[in-house]
Amino acid sequence: MGKKVLVCGGAGYIGSHMVRQLVESGFEPIVFDNLSQGHAAAVTGVPLVRGDLLDPAALAELFAAHAFDAVYHFAALIAVGESVIAPDIYYRNNVVGALNLLDAMRTAGVDRFVFSSTAAVYGNPETELIAETHPQTPINPYGRSKRMMEQVLEDYGRAFGIRSVIFRYFNAAGADPSGEIGEAHDPETHLVPNVLLAALGAREGLDIFGDDYDTRDGTCVRDYIHVNDIASAHLAALDWMETRDGSHVFNLGNGNGFTNREVLEAARRVTGIDIPYRIGPRRDGDAATLVADSTRAKTLLGWTPKTPEIEAIIESAWAWHRAPKYGPFSGA
Ligand code: UDP
Repeated sequence: MGKKVLVCGGAGYIGSHMVRQLVESGFEPIVFDNLSQGHAAAVTGVPLVRGDLLDPAALAELFAAHAFDAVYHFAALIAVGESVIAPDIYYRNNVVGALNLLDAMRTAGVDRFVFSSTAAVYGNPETELIAETHPQTPINPYGRSKRMMEQVLEDYGRAFGIRSVIFRYFNAAGADPSGEIGEAHDPETHLVPNVLLAALGAREGLDIFGDDYDTRDGTCVRDYIHVNDIASAHLAALDWMETRDGSHVFNLGNGNGFTNREVLEAARRVTGIDIPYRIGPRRDGDAATLVADSTRAKTLLGWTPKTPEIEAIIESAWAWHRAPKYGPFSGA
């Protein structure tokens, strides 16, 4: 039997890719998910406990039933625009929910935690590439909710001996080559899936949010990272925590920025479809440019992204979106 690990949000997009890698590496993951965004069909061959982080009794029961070696926390709300409109829901889920989880860990004596944070903690960057030492001035409630939890983890490390690795994801995209799991948000708010849904005619066209940013073509610049490359860093985090106390933060990105128009062009090349689009107003809360310096993860964790090219990332997402196994466009 491998080590038991809890994967909160394991039925979601990144969580389900994590579960797959954990199983392949001999771990025994247990998924805890409220299925508000996740899909039961994304969890196959491992236990799925349906429950909510806002329910401490459910968490107590979960930790009483299993002796976990570590906890992965992917169960958060992630839509920047929505967080501006509904900050109450974001702080409750992303901060109160995470605190409940940490307190359940303390009660059960579990001391290893891997936390999904975001490039949104940096706000509008002052440098072209963003390193972990860059000042943090998030410009939306989503980023602030994650920043708060990072601070909580520092304090919990010092006061309660909780070890943690914090990953600041840039833009997760792509899907597992198995075709079994992929991105299936409802509603979908992210650029890569929305471009591909427009290619499929599942939406009328792509709306590009703003073309008057201070970037090379006026549209926002993001750094896209394959979801399986995000997951592989999370595996390395377990080894890292074996020998280290406290809280440790790493960016996860490829260090290459693409404008929204460039992503559209790359998707046109991959799909061979002249994907329709229109330019709309800016979306509240968007930074103009977010590109990672991930040297720290590479040198300290020995992390190497396997699929760094934007076209290969989009290609893997395209394979999924043409035949999704679950989600609003699966026809299931
Ligand atoms: N975006 C867009 N149209 C869409 C979805 C996203 O123009 O249908 C833009 C968004 O405004 C941002 C970039 O694409 O500039 C990446 O947004 P996404 O929501 O994918 O990720 P985020 O960077 O907000 O985490």
